[in-house]
Amino acid sequence: MENEAKNTVINNLRQIQRRIETTCLQCGRAPEEISLLLATKTVSAEKIKWATELGYRLVGENKLQEIQSKFPDLYRENLQWHMIGHLQTNKVKHVLKYVDVIQSVDRIRLAEKLQQRCEFLDRTVDIFIQVNTSFEESKFGVEPEKAFELIRQVSKLNHLNIKGLMTIGILSSKDERVRECFRHLKDIQKKVIESGLERVDVSQLSMGMSGDLEIAIEEGSTMIRVGTAIFGERPYPDSYYWNEKA
Ligand SMILES: *Cc1c(COP(=O)(O)O)cnc(C)c1O
Repeated sequence: MENEAKNTVINNLRQIQRRIETTCLQCGRAPEEISLLLATKTVSAEKIKWATELGYRLVGENKLQEIQSKFPDLYRENLQWHMIGHLQTNKVKHVLKYVDVIQSVDRIRLAEKLQQRCEFLDRTVDIFIQVNTSFEESKFGVEPEKAFELIRQVSKLNHLNIKGLMTIGILSSKDERVRECFRHLKDIQKKVIESGLERVDVSQLSMGMSGDLEIAIEEGSTMIRVGTAIFGERPYPDSYYWNEKA
């Protein structure tokens, strides 16, 4: 039974690799430009190890409690932990003990809290700015029109290193709607690069998940975050993770 489950995960990872390669071939990109972040909410440490044994090193979690419960079993694996879920300011202190990158920075108050804590710890942290490109109320992220101003403000916080932008595409069966979300993010990236803001590097675009990674890669993604297509369906709906009040 367990062997079978493990084989499924291994096969799923191969499948994802093939989807990346096929899409890259079609749109003239190099597969090496795209990294795969394992979206591991609700996935046990044991199952995560099946993927890390194959050399995958990037994991993304949505909740502090889940990171805390899996960390002891995984800290030897040399993983790079990304926070991809909504982050409440009162969790900053603890989250910084575990994660290397925070992809869900979407408001100045959160950025200031991170700056404060990092100052105290005499360290820095890599962050992405999360943008709500789908205009859905249920999703976190700064509104696209306010993204540039947020990035400008965050660039002044010297313990935070902006490394990229992150978005969750709209959940829609219409490819064009999804594509628009990813284009929004790409447009913001262009604007930021043209502005020449100091200390700002937005070369990473974290976009694309199980159902829309092809569109995201076509639109310039450098990091896809994949859960279901690797580990199977989750026991909770995503609204449980995406709709939590701050
Ligand atoms: C769950 C989650 C993913 C992965 O979604 P799948 O559809 O399971 O691939 C990606 N990004 C974020 C922020 C998530 O919460």
